[in-house]
Amino acid sequence: MRSFPLALIMDLDSGFFRRKSFLVLFFLSLSFGVKGQSHTHIHESFHMGSPFAITVVHEEEQKAWEAIKAAEIEIERVEALISSWKESSQTSAINRAAGKNAVKVDPELFQLISRAQKVSELSAGAFDISYASMDRIWKFDGSMKTLPTEDAISISVAKIDFQKVILDQEQQSVFLQEEGMRIGFGAIGKGYAANRAKKILREMGMTAGMVNAGGDLIAWGREEDGSLWKIAVADPTKEKKVLAWLEVDDKAVVTSGDYERYVILEGKRYAHIIDPRTGWPVQGLKSVSIICPDAEIADALATTVFVLGKEKGLELVEKLRGIECIIITDENEIVTSSKLNLSHE
Ligand code: AMP
Ligand code: MG
Repeated sequence: MRSFPLALIMDLDSGFFRRKSFLVLFFLSLSFGVKGQSHTHIHESFHMGSPFAITVVHEEEQKAWEAIKAAEIEIERVEALISSWKESSQTSAINRAAGKNAVKVDPELFQLISRAQKVSELSAGAFDISYASMDRIWKFDGSMKTLPTEDAISISVAKIDFQKVILDQEQQSVFLQEEGMRIGFGAIGKGYAANRAKKILREMGMTAGMVNAGGDLIAWGREEDGSLWKIAVADPTKEKKVLAWLEVDDKAVVTSGDYERYVILEGKRYAHIIDPRTGWPVQGLKSVSIICPDAEIADALATTVFVLGKEKGLELVEKLRGIECIIITDENEIVTSSKLNLSHE
């Protein structure tokens, strides 16, 4: 028996999973609540540019909705603090002061940046919140019609360097050393918000639930019928068909995918995750899912492994305890970390 509490249920050709790798075109995580049953309450909303869903299992309906409301307020608070798209946020203040002065911030933001810096160190800069200088170059909102010039890329990529994000512990301040530098939490913010929402829900007595922050999930406790939470993996070869179910309790499942936000230019697909070494969108993988107890860590590592690629990404995950991954390459090969058993052998 494997100790990792994650199972796969299949209603498909079981031989499919015996192969070391198999073909898929698309990978998607969906959350399923037990809609319609009396003690499961689901609330859908929109934050951080993405749909969110909060599910709680609780006997007292009013308490459940009070908790959901508090979690919603918390998500909005986090977004207001960390969003680099909101002029009023502390992150925007840091960005405006790049190359000029340090900005004193709330301990919460200071600590979030410190943790992000640790992931940068762990990944030799593959993960880097100062990737955000590239936001001026790569736009994934449909407005981009031509490839950027090499010159434009090299000017912006020169501004990416997590080692030039200076944290002063005593002052609780952040300084971006060079003018034009920017930081952004696109790769970690939803995971952090999911963690925070879960914390509030638990503090308010919700012993079981799931927060789905734009596809970044964290679940705890059990579904209403006592079963583990099920996370559907869509069958990429057959539209709207479930390939398999991941069953989890007290786990986060976060996917970084090239299908989430991308632009097609000159017949080639460019996805929203940037290689900080080159300033170009990363090629090579379709998706990376990380499964571990913490949504922020899962979020950070999914992006990191996406940048590192199959070999180096797997190598990193294998070094970390309690963290598993599923990688799908551009060639539709599926690779998993060694403790994640996706076979029925
Ligand atoms: P995710 O979907 O969690 O993998 O996050 C992708 C988002 O993270 C992008 O849309 C960018 O906002 C941001 N991002 C892109 N490249 C990087 C990188 N190398 N390191 C950190 N954040 C990045
Ligand atoms: Mg991420």
